[in-house]
Amino acid sequence: MPLTHTLGSITITSLLDGAGPFFMPREEAFPDATEANWHEADRRDPDAIGPDGGWWLPFRAFALRTGDGPVTLVDAGIGPADAPAASWAPVPGRLPAELADAGIDPADVRTVVLTHLHSDHVGWAGSLFPNADHLVQRAELDALELFHPELPARLLGPLRADGRLRVLDGDTDLTPGVRVLSTPGHTPGHQSVLVESGDERLLVTGDLLVHAIQLIDPALCYVHEEDRAGAGRTRERVLSTLSPLLLATPHLGAPFTPHP
Ligand SMILES: [Zn+2]
Repeated sequence: MPLTHTLGSITITSLLDGAGPFFMPREEAFPDATEANWHEADRRDPDAIGPDGGWWLPFRAFALRTGDGPVTLVDAGIGPADAPAASWAPVPGRLPAELADAGIDPADVRTVVLTHLHSDHVGWAGSLFPNADHLVQRAELDALELFHPELPARLLGPLRADGRLRVLDGDTDLTPGVRVLSTPGHTPGHQSVLVESGDERLLVTGDLLVHAIQLIDPALCYVHEEDRAGAGRTRERVLSTLSPLLLATPHLGAPFTPHP
């Protein structure tokens, strides 16, 4: 069964679309990390270590739901066998089966928040969720040509034609207790989703961080961040202003990670 966490009336479900070894040595992915950083990261998040000692990378989406109401999905995984992520990620993903295991009918997904438009976050977007608006930051669309020139035709074209692409400008309230936060750096229009109930907070991070090593030193850059300095600043700001909070992450070994 997919792992869940409940915050007030909202259930957050972790959906594992796939997992596999990262395509480059982890020391190259985080060139400034020290031995001590790695030691501490491995202690905190042992499931991110693969059988050969390299970086083992899960790919997750998260579902937010109150009771049997409409579902908000954050990110859409690596996708089917012919998805854009096929060149590097372990497609086909298993999100449809994960949704079934979680008791979620894709037709009940009314909102898909795409944290950013990298290929491992948009794989099932569009076609699998016929009743969903797809939410993207305007800054992300404006920068699209930087990384996925094929996406406009493949994903965004049909969504636009159906009137199911919703463009956001910065922080945006979605439903009571659920808010989209602008978290640029990994990509220019990166966004995360904050869930709040009383004084409890959960952040569905997207790639605000991709490895536990960035919790030990939030300034540590990841080579695939499009604005490395900006990503580090955003990470430091978000973690320092929102903590304590629970992090729901696509790529850490554990789906839910407390941050003190
Ligand atoms: Zn990612």
